[in-house]
Formats: sequence, structure tokens, C-alpha cells
Amino acid sequence: MNDCLFCKIIAGEIPSKKVYEDEYVYAFYDIAPMAPVHVLVVPKLHIASADGVSADNSAYVARIFEAIPKIAAAEGLANGYRVITNCGEDGCQSVRHLHFHILGGRKLPETLA
Ligand code: AMP
Repeated sequence: MNDCLFCKIIAGEIPSKKVYEDEYVYAFYDIAPMAPVHVLVVPKLHIASADGVSADNSAYVARIFEAIPKIAAAEGLANGYRVITNCGEDGCQSVRHLHFHILGGRKLPETLA
């Protein structure tokens, strides 16, 4: 996946501000934060979107959701936060590598759409 922005970030070919890393997961600050804390959590395996999750790769998703509470705690999000993944054209997914946004640090709007 040479053309994938997030694969290049994981490989260190494009700089990022790392928040967390393990064997399966990489997390970094969003370049255009939409909340005081805005972290992107991605699988180290290229999965295009939530629509590409299957029994073959869902271990990566499980590891992401194990990492999220650790990241949230480290970021001081004891009062709560939002986890979002945009999927495909109608979901306004702009980077076609599965990623979960962690948003927090203030009271977020109730509406998603
Ligand atoms: P989405 O629209 O759900 O696909 O989210 C993609 C996110 O990636 C957006 O919030 C962008 O601000 C973010 N983004 C794009 N390029 C970079 C980058 N080089 N480093 C960090 N975040 C990025």
C-alpha cells in the first residue's frame, strides 16, 4: 500500500506526533484537531475502512479498542470522549486506511449528522 498516507506515517516515512504504539496499533495527533484532544488510532495492517474488517483482521480492531482507554487516560479524558470512524464516500472518509478518531477535552455536540 505504497500510496497510503497512514501506512507511510506508520512506517515513519511521513512525520507524525506519536501518542501510542504497540505491535498492532499506532496512534498520533490529528493534524487538524476538531477538539482539544484529537487522536487518530490506526491498525498497522492496511485495512481500507470499517467495511474491510473481517475475521481475518479483526484482531487489529480488538487491539485498537484495547488501546483506546489507555490513550484516553494518558490524554486526561476522565470525563469522557467520543470514538468515531468514517466509512466510505457517504461517511466522508478522506483517508482510506481504517482509523478511529478519539475526540475529547470539552463537551462535544450531541448530533453526529
Ligand atoms: P477522515 O476524514 O475520517 O478520513 O479523517 C482523516 C483525518 O486525518 C482528518 O481528521 C485529517 O485531519 C487527518 N490527517 C490527514 N493527514 C494527516 C497527517 N499527515 N497527520 C495527521 N493527521 C492527518
